[in-house]
Amino acid sequence: MSEKMALGAWAQRDEAAREMERRLGLRAERDEPLASHTTMRVGGPADLLVTVKDRFALRGIVRLATSRGWPLLVLGRGSNVVVSDRGVRGIVVLNRSAASEVDAASGEMRLDSGVPMARAATLAADAGLTGMEFALAIPGNIGGAVWANAGAHGAEIADVLRSATILRPDGSEEEVAAASLAFSYRDSQLKHAAGAGSVVLGASFALRHDEPALIKERLEEIRTWRREHQPLGVPSAGSVFRNPPGSLSAGALIEAVGLKGRNIGGAEISLLHANWILNRGGATANDVRALHDLCISEVQRSAGVHLESEIVFIGDDAPTSRS
Ligand SMILES: Cc1cc2nc3c(=O)[nH]c(=O)nc-3n(C[C@H](O)[C@H](O)[C@H](O)COP(=O)(O)OP(=O)(O)OC[C@H]3O[C@@H](n4cnc5c(N)ncnc54)[C@H](O)[C@@H]3O)c2cc1C
Repeated sequence: MSEKMALGAWAQRDEAAREMERRLGLRAERDEPLASHTTMRVGGPADLLVTVKDRFALRGIVRLATSRGWPLLVLGRGSNVVVSDRGVRGIVVLNRSAASEVDAASGEMRLDSGVPMARAATLAADAGLTGMEFALAIPGNIGGAVWANAGAHGAEIADVLRSATILRPDGSEEEVAAASLAFSYRDSQLKHAAGAGSVVLGASFALRHDEPALIKERLEEIRTWRREHQPLGVPSAGSVFRNPPGSLSAGALIEAVGLKGRNIGGAEISLLHANWILNRGGATANDVRALHDLCISEVQRSAGVHLESEIVFIGDDAPTSRS
């Protein structure tokens, strides 16, 4: 976000709040700390924070902000982001648009982008449909998961997505086939210039039939694996780095340079999984950033491998490019 936009947003805050209420019936909170809306539990305030509960409101706020040139950021569950300590200038939208429709006969599941991934997994299971079990492991929404091509346990969004309904920055809305979203490992077109400013409104999934008991068994295996291998229950944003090409995972590389357990302020590299940074209490975004940068420099120095971020730093002073 440019400085010019940031200053403009601040000046237009009252006007934006009034317009959102008058045109869309949406009440904005001022200076709401974003720490309480992210799983890492760090980050300063949003100038304006708006929660949308249906697709109509999500579409409305995005179109209004775009037409006025107001800076706007859509967040799902905030499980892949680290918000800067100075917060985010402009409007932050918390997406809770959560309608769902499952056609058990055809195997099609249509979800709003604010449906939690875990809910998608159980909706599919209840209809006797397989393919969505991996979503149980991911504490984000459908929108954030499509954006990231989120995946776990050998499966990812690209495997099951039929199409996504996308609102483009020019206000047009289109149903885009999954094949056109340029999915690759934890990546999609939406993360790049071609998708900048695009918002996922909903997604349609193509699933297969299976024995409900077998689906439930797989869900249980995923639950157990996560409990045993991931530091759940402590604030984090999941894996910090993408696994680099080659045989060593990001976690193994970080462990090999002796950073497991290292802490800066309230942030700590997990002893259970070295690719996770935990907020042990009172961590700031700067603490997380400093540990993140330390991992990059140490792994580069000793293994000659450049670690790329999977988490996203957002807000004032956040670096804009993926490091
Ligand atoms: C404990 C834990 C475990 C995790 N495990 C996994 C895992 O196994 N696999 C995995 O892939 N990830 C994992 N993650 C990371 C995270 O859950 C996923 O990346 C998830 O898909 C993010 O969804 P979200 O709704 O939280 O997105 P947010 O963090 O809210 O947003 C992330 C990005 O997506 C953009 N975005 C959000 N919604 C939309 C939308 N509707 N349209 C366009 N852009 C949007 C945001 O602007 C932001 O840039 C884990 C995280 C945690 C905390």
